[in-house]
Amino acid sequence: MKIGILDIQGSVEEHLEMLKKLKNVEAVLVKKSEDLKDVKGLILPGGESTTIGKLLRRFGLRDEIIKRVKKGMAVWGTCAGAILLSKKIVGKENADSLNLMDITVERNAYGRQLDSFETQVEFDLSTKKSTEETDVLKKNTVRLCRIPAIFIRAPKILEVGKGVKILAKYKDEIIMAREKNMLVTTFHPELTDDLEVHQYFVKMCGK
Ligand code: GLN
Repeated sequence: MKIGILDIQGSVEEHLEMLKKLKNVEAVLVKKSEDLKDVKGLILPGGESTTIGKLLRRFGLRDEIIKRVKKGMAVWGTCAGAILLSKKIVGKENADSLNLMDITVERNAYGRQLDSFETQVEFDLSTKKSTEETDVLKKNTVRLCRIPAIFIRAPKILEVGKGVKILAKYKDEIIMAREKNMLVTTFHPELTDDLEVHQYFVKMCGK
């Protein structure tokens, strides 16, 4: 299965290394709309959301990504990528965002003291549409998975719409959420050696 990584700026190599470790995944770097051919899911890496947003237009990728996500291609935004997916950014025009996911984010929201930090968080695996999920739902339990989380000038997700499922929180802040085929994390799983979130995304792409 082909999974793309938006290759404009940011943690591209790191995502590539992670995808290479997964079975049945062919990672492709996406720089122009033709690169999206046969891609089942696209990762928007961390970096600088304003830069990536502007270059998405210049590279002619913006409309193509929006179209494909609306048709069902899975997409995962890490940090800056999450900002790009959001429908609302606090205190800012949203001109360069892809405007796809019903979340409100605030950029660089942890302040200077917590500019970058690493911690452990738990995320809810029970939304997986697999046989395991059915079992989990039947038992009506949440299956939590403990992972390391690195935050770098991270945004906060201040609000989510009705159709958005919150998958993880850190100190009451939403740090991971999903709406249908769209996933966001405000942290960087690609900077750790834990493959759990990448695996979760690959499963989303397989639908
Ligand atoms: N602060 C960056 C932004 O606003 C995001 C940082 C990151 O992706 N690590 O775009």
